[in-house]
Amino acid sequence: MPAKTSKRQPARELLFGNLWEYDPAPETASPQLQSRYQLFIDGKFTAPKTKKYFPSISPRNEETLAEIALAGAADVDAAYAAAAKAFPAWSKLPGAERGKYLYRIARLLQDRAREFAVAETLDGGKPIKESRDFDVPMAAAHFFYHAGWADKLNSVTPGKTLAPLGVVGQIIPWNFPLLMLAWKLAPALACGNTVVLKPAETTSITCMKFATLLLEAGLPPGVVNFVTGAGETGVAVVNHPTAKKIAFTGSTVVGKSIQHALAGTDKKLTLELGGKAANIVFEDAAIDQAVEGIINGIFFNQGHVCCAGSRLLVQESIADRVLAKIKIRLRSLRVGDPLDKNTDIGAINSQNQLEKIRELVDAGVNEGAELYQPACSLPSKGFYYPPSIFSGVTLSQRIAREEIFGPVLSILTFRTPEEAIEKANNTAFGLSAGVWTDKGSLILKMSTELKAGVVWANTYNKFDPTSPFGGFKESGFGREGGKQGLLEYAQLI
Ligand code: NAP
Ligand code: MG
Repeated sequence: MPAKTSKRQPARELLFGNLWEYDPAPETASPQLQSRYQLFIDGKFTAPKTKKYFPSISPRNEETLAEIALAGAADVDAAYAAAAKAFPAWSKLPGAERGKYLYRIARLLQDRAREFAVAETLDGGKPIKESRDFDVPMAAAHFFYHAGWADKLNSVTPGKTLAPLGVVGQIIPWNFPLLMLAWKLAPALACGNTVVLKPAETTSITCMKFATLLLEAGLPPGVVNFVTGAGETGVAVVNHPTAKKIAFTGSTVVGKSIQHALAGTDKKLTLELGGKAANIVFEDAAIDQAVEGIINGIFFNQGHVCCAGSRLLVQESIADRVLAKIKIRLRSLRVGDPLDKNTDIGAINSQNQLEKIRELVDAGVNEGAELYQPACSLPSKGFYYPPSIFSGVTLSQRIAREEIFGPVLSILTFRTPEEAIEKANNTAFGLSAGVWTDKGSLILKMSTELKAGVVWANTYNKFDPTSPFGGFKESGFGREGGKQGLLEYAQLI
């Protein structure tokens, strides 16, 4: 009788690695950039009263792409005044009419999708295949979805209707600049609010391009106003007395400071903050699919993802096998020019973020975890970091507790579902989690007991405008998307 072959075959490696070089596949569409962007207030591009501008550089090669206006308190004041003036007419417009504007915005964004994708990649560093196939189409999808709700607001909660709040202040981060703008603007406008929005300092360009699209759509002046600037501009947006609600997406530290600032006021608040998600792989899972989910979970958008699966919890019996497969997969990832269509991991958004990643990786090494980085040559200009994994991680280490917000995975092991749940929930955050198993009952148990706003089963990083997204604990409160997201921008009457 032939010897029984083991079911546990060693992970095999396809020999693609160094056999040939890929030809460059640069994206050539023009991003149609201006050399200078003004503020967008009351439907007009307006020079800042501060008379100051700051550069937006491309993390791809550190070149300055454009100058961005720095909004001071007086500019934020003007933006709120314009939004307040626009509110009565906008909020009284029949929902179907507001919906038409949102449909128009969605279609115009689709028309100019390539141009927006290239601008997003240049300004933020994400691979063109992601901005082209994820960020821009998803942003359009959010406008389409909310356009559909605009005339159906009395069906959201039976017996009640949704009335707008007034002027809302919105602040967004740099990891998905256009998509976060869409998550914020679309529900606010569908419900009849008017808006003052501040994009992140390092990624203002697609926001300002979006203003041209609002003009093309004929949106009434003042309904949407954009104020660019740094943290101080954000403080002015948060503290302005006209705001009826503040919607913030960003770090937990800044989220806490905003919560302090708004305590005692009657402003509504939603906070979409950081995360440290557990991606949990059981021994009965389809391992190759799980490995793809692990890779996508942590390396999508260079790991600059609030819901990134940054803690891999793998069952002890398969840990060596999974680790070997991850290392093989890591060696096939292409790191480099985000404008190249073959690139899997692009540029780190800023020098600051690169330094933060380096600091936390150093901490992981010093605390005794084992670091693996595949050999890869990084471009000499720009901000780049190789995909990295740490094995032998324990819960007390900084790399298991703090959000790294970069392409760095921390791997821990567990023996039983109970231990997985305990370790997964042993974090200050509660935004998302992943579960990989063949067993439906285990998926139900895990999704019930994991303290996370989103739990993906046998997949990861799946988004849809119909599905509410948001966190628990230090990941914030409030939901974006779905009916739940609409309720955050309305009062029930
Ligand atoms: P951040 O430093 O908190 O900045 C977010 C935004 O707030 C930026 O526009 C920022 O302006 C502004 N800001 C800074 N200080 C402020 C202040 N004191 N008052 C008001 N606004 C202020 O966060 P980030 O580094 O840009 O983004 C990364 C974080 O966002 C991560 O923690 C990530 O997990 C989180 N995130 C969460 C979600 C979610 O849905 N839960 C989604 C995406 C990202 P500047 O750009 O000038 O600093
Ligand atoms: Mg930039």
